[in-house]
Amino acid sequence: MYLKEIQAQGFKSFADKLDITLDKDITCVVGPNGSGKSNVVDAVRWVLGEQSVKALRGTDTMTDVIFSGSKSRNSLNVAQVTLIFDNTDNYLHIPYTEVSVKRRLYRSGENEYFLNGEKCRLKDIIDLFLDTGIGKESLNIIGQGEVGKIISNSPYDRRIIIESAAGVLKYKKRKEEAIRKLDKTNTNLDRVLDIINEIELRLEPLKEQSLKAKEYLENKNALEKIEVALIKEEIESLNNLYQSSKERIEILKEEILKLESESLTKATNVDNLKVKLIDIDKEIRELNNNILIKTEELEKINTEKQMLLERSKYDFSSLKVHENIKSLKEEVLKASNNINILDKEIELDNKELASIYDNLNNKTNKITSLDIDKNNVLKELNDKKRENYDLDNKIASLTDFIENGANLPNGIKYLINNPKIKGIHDIIGNIIEIDYKFIKALDIALSFSKNYLIVDNSEVAKECINYLKNNNLGRVTFYPLDVIKGRKVDIESLNILRKEVGFIDTFNNIVKYDNKYKNIIDNVLGNVLLVTDIDKANLISKKISNKYKIVTIDGEVFNVGGSITGGTIKENRNILLDKQELNNLLIRFKANKEILNSLEIKLDEIDKEISKELKQKEEIQNSYIFNKQLLNNKNIELNNIKERYNELNSELNSLNSLKDNNLSKEEDILINKYYEKDNELKELKLKLNSLNKLKDNISKEIDEQDALSRLNNSSLNKLNNELKDLEVNISKMDVKLDYYLNTLAEEYEMTYERAKNEYHLDCDIKEAREKVNTYKANIKRIGMVSLDSIEEYEKTNERYTFLTSQRQDLLDAKETLLEIINEMDSIMKEEFKNTFNKVEIEFQNVFNKLFGGGKAELKLTDPNNLLESGVEIIASPPGKKLTAITLLSGGEKTLTAISLLFAILNVSPIPFCIFDEVEAALDEANVSNFGKYLETYKEKTQFLLITHKKKTMEYAKTLYGITMQESGVSKLVSVKLEDN
Ligand code: ATP
Repeated sequence: MYLKEIQAQGFKSFADKLDITLDKDITCVVGPNGSGKSNVVDAVRWVLGEQSVKALRGTDTMTDVIFSGSKSRNSLNVAQVTLIFDNTDNYLHIPYTEVSVKRRLYRSGENEYFLNGEKCRLKDIIDLFLDTGIGKESLNIIGQGEVGKIISNSPYDRRIIIESAAGVLKYKKRKEEAIRKLDKTNTNLDRVLDIINEIELRLEPLKEQSLKAKEYLENKNALEKIEVALIKEEIESLNNLYQSSKERIEILKEEILKLESESLTKATNVDNLKVKLIDIDKEIRELNNNILIKTEELEKINTEKQMLLERSKYDFSSLKVHENIKSLKEEVLKASNNINILDKEIELDNKELASIYDNLNNKTNKITSLDIDKNNVLKELNDKKRENYDLDNKIASLTDFIENGANLPNGIKYLINNPKIKGIHDIIGNIIEIDYKFIKALDIALSFSKNYLIVDNSEVAKECINYLKNNNLGRVTFYPLDVIKGRKVDIESLNILRKEVGFIDTFNNIVKYDNKYKNIIDNVLGNVLLVTDIDKANLISKKISNKYKIVTIDGEVFNVGGSITGGTIKENRNILLDKQELNNLLIRFKANKEILNSLEIKLDEIDKEISKELKQKEEIQNSYIFNKQLLNNKNIELNNIKERYNELNSELNSLNSLKDNNLSKEEDILINKYYEKDNELKELKLKLNSLNKLKDNISKEIDEQDALSRLNNSSLNKLNNELKDLEVNISKMDVKLDYYLNTLAEEYEMTYERAKNEYHLDCDIKEAREKVNTYKANIKRIGMVSLDSIEEYEKTNERYTFLTSQRQDLLDAKETLLEIINEMDSIMKEEFKNTFNKVEIEFQNVFNKLFGGGKAELKLTDPNNLLESGVEIIASPPGKKLTAITLLSGGEKTLTAISLLFAILNVSPIPFCIFDEVEAALDEANVSNFGKYLETYKEKTQFLLITHKKKTMEYAKTLYGITMQESGVSKLVSVKLEDN
């Protein structure tokens, strides 16, 4: 690589365009003082990225380098310098054979860099020349008066020259970058640690609050689900009870009304009967008086009759006849009286008989109707018995069917019944219990898995499979307990589901089973959801992105992925359906049994009533026969008496013709009177008798009615008490219903309708109540919570996790940076030491050559600290003592510095160098030595020398002159020496 061309315009004194073309050899730029030669050096420095205004000999700002005008020329607003390199040897790592680097500066202060015409950053320019030996730290550009600085600079500054030659600047830069990054990383780390500390202080209490709030929410949700369902059930059963109580109350009121009216009628009847009894008593008393009077009258007549009889004893002629007549008369009158009385008795008896007959008919009718009732009950009883007999048979055969696994595939049947293989449990369908209203859904949810066989472990499964193979018994799927793992719905989806209307639960939570099968149940049912109906299932399936299988109570299926199965099901027999049918049969059998019991009780009651009625009918019948007999006897007696009366009457008539006297007439009158009275007395007695009978009957009826009334009243009391209890219960139910509805509205903001449609109890009421109490106790125990803490904790924890990972990243980055720094340090030490050693040797050689003898050496000020050690120069020109460098003459110092310059060039060649009057302090001989040495670099290093020394010019292949003809503006005058 070499510098082909320097172009400048508007830069310092180069108001006009400057274009210096160079070749690989030595080129000298000459000219009078102040013509602008050094400005060429500045231009090269500037374009390579120099940022120091002072280094460019400016005073204030970088814009000082823009042509500021002269007497005859105005100032310019832009300065621009371009360097064009030949890069055919690819020295610069850029894929161009010619590389142009341009810098432009506007008076506004705006700076621009260009690489091969493309705009670029300063960094790109610096990177391009990094460690190429070209750059401001390098020795390739030595400005006017700067050569002395190599000697006068501090040992550390001198070290930089060696470092530049060693090419460690890129490492140094990388190390500096790493240190800068390390500082930044440390600052960031401190900041992150501060924040982590602050978050850690809050995180733990926040976590506790959040856990508490979550626990509260879990309990609250679980409580809602079960309490609302429980309240719904309670309301439903209260409603049923309320309805049945209301119906019962209506029935009771009717019965009470009926009984009360019956009671009233009976009481009125009894009152009437009692009044009647009083009348009868009065009549009896009057009759008794009359009887007494009649008896006295009769006795009186009888006395008179006796006296007349005494008198007639003296009338012997007619005594015999008279006595006969008298006795006949008396007999006739007696008979006539008897006839009269018997007629009356018979009349009364006939009436009584007719009433007995009516009673008998009533009883017969009653018994007939009871017989009809009995037959109906018997028929119903027989029907139910027959039905239960059939049910019993069906239950027995279905139980047998289930117990023997008759519906199972052959393979399973043989395995289960094979005592030689141990460790076989049962099929999945047989270990599950579920509320029968969900059995259809369960059947669908389990599908084929209900016939999967549970075994202890994989070994048992293998043994079973061998057995099946050997006996050609088909295929069976096995679920080894030690292998099968549960499946479940992820928390996120579960949280969504819990809020969804219609979601009942996952199946594993609805079924009951022995806990040792938990993994199996969770495996087949843990991720299957039970939902009330197809519409809800549709919504829910979308909400959880069709992630889980959903089954509705009616058996529609929303499969994972979104397909839907539904319609009618051809129900093949299986264990679950058999169990459902068995359950239905048992329920019907039990219900029938209860009906049978009540029918038998009813039959027994009817039988008792029939036998009571029959007994009463028999008594009435006996009484009828007895009275009828009595009446017949009386009729016979009446006929006999009538016959006797006629006989006596004709006898009397014949005797009457034989006698006729006064006495006899008087006697007749008396006898007639006597029997008249006698007849009256007998009639009275008959009437008395009949009244007494009537009185007895009425008294009996009153007693009966009283007994019935008592019975009635006791029933009435019972019914009234029942009514009162029911009414009290109804008002209690009202209060309870109000309480439940209020709880729904206030606690859950829910109507009964919604609760009814969306909440379903999946356990029995007792268990549900226990659960409600447990959840409520939990909520009370948890106490006050902040629900916001859940989100706050999640956010804070997320930030904490992010920050801790950031902390780790920073720590990792720190470690990497420290590794880089260490690596850079060791490379730099190594490279520096190598280069230093080489330069040291070269320095001695070059010094010796340029001075024509003498001795010089380089020394590290701190050899143990290769990264910071400075470089000391010790030199002794020929014949002089090795002495401190400061004591050397100006020329000696310059030559020593040049020796070091060349030594470095020898160790680390640089493609081009610009020296501005470096040899100014040298005498002719030394300039000559300097020039000769320069020639040794031919083809290796290109030199651009600014000089006033003719001797130096002799070594140049090309000579350019810079003049300032027009005042204030530099001009290039080209003089090709070779051409001259
Ligand atoms: P010497 O032989 O004495 O070292 P020289 O040829 O190296 O002189 P320079 O130092 O290159 O001279 O040039 C200095 C000249 O450049 C001065 O005359 C100065 O006025 C001029 N100059 C410097 N900066 C500017 C500028 N921004 N605008 C115009 N002229 C400038």
